Amino acid sequence: MSRRSFIVGSISGLTVLAVAACTESAPEPTPPMPSTRSDIPQPVAFQRTSWTSDPLATGAFSYLPVGATPEQRAVLREPVDGRIFFAGEHTADVGPGTVQGARVSGRRVATDVLQRAQPGERIAVVGAGLAGATAARILSDAGFEVVVIEGRERAGGRISTFSGDEWPFPIELGAAVIHDAGSNSLSNALAAARIETTPVEARVERRTRAGAVAAESDVAEDALLEARTWAEGQLTDLSIADALVESGAAELSDESGEGGISDADRLENYVTADLGTAAGADVDDLSAWFAQPVPVLAEGDELVTGDFQSFVAAELEGIDVLPSSHVSHITTTEHGVSLRLVRGESYSAERVVVTVPLGVLKAGTIEFEPPLPFSHRGAISALGMGLQDKVLLRFEKPFWSTDAAVWTVIDGDTDFPLWLNLLPATGEAILVGLTGGEAAQRLAEYGDQEVLDAALASLEPFLDPSLASPRPSSGVGG
Ligand SMILES: Cc1cc2nc3c(=O)[nH]c(=O)nc-3n(C[C@H](O)[C@H](O)[C@H](O)COP(=O)(O)OP(=O)(O)OC[C@H]3O[C@@H](n4cnc5c(N)ncnc54)[C@H](O)[C@@H]3O)c2cc1C
Repeated sequence: MSRRSFIVGSISGLTVLAVAACTESAPEPTPPMPSTRSDIPQPVAFQRTSWTSDPLATGAFSYLPVGATPEQRAVLREPVDGRIFFAGEHTADVGPGTVQGARVSGRRVATDVLQRAQPGERIAVVGAGLAGATAARILSDAGFEVVVIEGRERAGGRISTFSGDEWPFPIELGAAVIHDAGSNSLSNALAAARIETTPVEARVERRTRAGAVAAESDVAEDALLEARTWAEGQLTDLSIADALVESGAAELSDESGEGGISDADRLENYVTADLGTAAGADVDDLSAWFAQPVPVLAEGDELVTGDFQSFVAAELEGIDVLPSSHVSHITTTEHGVSLRLVRGESYSAERVVVTVPLGVLKAGTIEFEPPLPFSHRGAISALGMGLQDKVLLRFEKPFWSTDAAVWTVIDGDTDFPLWLNLLPATGEAILVGLTGGEAAQRLAEYGDQEVLDAALASLEPFLDPSLASPRPSSGVGG
């Protein structure tokens, strides 16, 4: 039996996989998404994101896989020859993987450039996401000639807002939550810019597939803590999955308790949804030493409901931005840097701030000449790019009666292990489904109708039959 299959079998109870791995035959392929229509009413509005297949994003946020360390983020903060400066959420020392981290990195890189640059220099910034816009604003205000080169038609990067008649407020297709808003300088900046945010109560409700609400329990969190404490004493890093198994923390009872839920079911749900989907990576990849997935919603978080993207665009007001300009080469010369675009033009500057996502760096779509130092290449290769995508559904009226903001199904075999219920915070019957890691990769291959069907099917445990009667399908966007 292969090690990975044993771990998957041990943790998730996916005995099929474990048994398949014992034989000579190939492992069972991942089960396809359910394609049957569910009893959930059709939404009146539907949006789906494609960050996983977007070459300018290549995923959602960075994470620390087995063997990677926070120091590798610090390596990327080191300028190369005093000419190339990296920023972006993946380089952040505070809040990596978040919008706050992106902003912190933009401020930090601007300080680094200011320490080296001479008055009047021309600074190129690659990427008009929050990190790039923050850096560009500071450098432009300091009197430098700044040009921002952005591959998309719009600013914002992984902050992407959609407004349409069918939505009651601008919806966020990328980042939507300001984590720990009270101690987060970004929330003050959003307030100053009059971008509306809405406090949320982060209560999680876990249900069985049959719809029974699971009693609260810390058994999974305790198991993770035990595994991590054990892992800290080991000579080398290992995955959270390995740590759970090898420490013995995953040896939980599989006997059904209240509502037919076992402790092992709870652990499987926790590692799949709370850890895996939140990090955009699977637990057999996440570092037991360092990976700290940010919960999708926690107490003190706020939801952006007032057009997040316009905040980034406003940061760039009065700054020279070249949209739809995909940088393919960055060459360091004796006097500065030369940037070449995919469509052929070249730009020169004294220094360049590179804020493209980690996944873009990993894909090698920007060629550096001379090549980046080994330290930087090592860091880019070691850090991981997590995958997360969303479906956003608005219903005519709620078909659910719970006021919990986060939903998950304990024994559910679904590609949408986490749902955010925006009704309590916004008064609107909007649900946001999250898919991450391998599931996000799989869903990226599917058409809109199949994704919608899978999303609706995964909501069945939350259907309150007294509130909804099934309606004929109106199809995607219907
Ligand atoms: C689905 C999803 C949900 C998320 N949820 C949250 C959340 O709730 N809370 C939170 O804090 N964070 C969340 N995040 C993470 C957050 O969006 C990011 O951490 C943050 O926006 C990253 O900002 P950045 O400036 O570092 O990178 P980006 O916003 O990605 O900016 C980089 C820019 O570089 C451009 N670019 C790429 N390649 C090139 C090239 N070759 N040439 C020119 N331009 C290029 C890109 O188009 C992009 O505009 C989420 C992300 C996703 C995808």
